[in-house]
Amino acid sequence: MNPDRPWETPEAEWRRDVARVRAGRPLEPEAWPDGAHCAVALSFDCDHETFEMGAGRAAIGRLAWGEYGRRKGVPRILATLARHDVRATFFVPAVSGLIDPSALDPIVEAGHEIGVHGWIHENTSKLDRATERELMLRARDALEAMTGQRPVGHRAAQWDLSASTIPLVEELGFLYDSSLMADDACYELLVEGRPTGVVEIPVDWVRDDAVYLLFNREPPARPFTPLEAVFDIFRREFDMAFDEGGVCQLTFHPFVIGYRSRIWILDRLIEHAKARGPVWFPTHAELAAWVIRA
Ligand SMILES: [Zn+2]
Repeated sequence: MNPDRPWETPEAEWRRDVARVRAGRPLEPEAWPDGAHCAVALSFDCDHETFEMGAGRAAIGRLAWGEYGRRKGVPRILATLARHDVRATFFVPAVSGLIDPSALDPIVEAGHEIGVHGWIHENTSKLDRATERELMLRARDALEAMTGQRPVGHRAAQWDLSASTIPLVEELGFLYDSSLMADDACYELLVEGRPTGVVEIPVDWVRDDAVYLLFNREPPARPFTPLEAVFDIFRREFDMAFDEGGVCQLTFHPFVIGYRSRIWILDRLIEHAKARGPVWFPTHAELAAWVIRA
């Protein structure tokens, strides 16, 4: 694209840009396991200190904020999931894991999935292909060494993708990516019109706790959504997914949702989902495997 005069971009060029990564065939199975009406895929992005470090900073106070996510947020989330006997996916930047690998043990032991989420929560869209490939491999290897399990899922930090990201996810043999927003339902990713066999489990800012609740002093951004309203948005996302027999995917952050005053949102959401009828709570990997088979 011509960044200053986009209207002058030749048609062949804008068509090529648009076609780099597209949504392919919808992956909407006829049925969910055990007669469930819909699938609820919960994810927790364990950015912790790398939320700061990935931006190239190491302010002591903000690192402590990330530390809270690991020390208090994750255990509180794990307790909530355990109480409801529900499993989920934790996307972990490798450096966030390496700071304290023992903190990953309770996640893995509870049967949750660990997915790749960058090396240090770097902005993928700024990387050249070789660097991005090396970091993706290094992150996957580090998580495998720490957990004993090879991650099959990829989520780009901040959902920033380069033109190489999805081709690399395909080349490195990931089962799925979860960074794009072209649908509510899962779909197969196309690269330049070619089906890749890689499942996309779509995310969205609408279903991300940080959008409503994250506080940032620099640049200044204050949470402006009341907690009840956040719950209401997520509940509505679930309710329509239930009515449609589809997927409700949600993204939380331990340093955002894991507070005494906030964890009830997750708790009540699971409670509400279970009260409506049979619901499947797969890890993202289980969801991807199911929809690609169906
Ligand atoms: Zn993240």
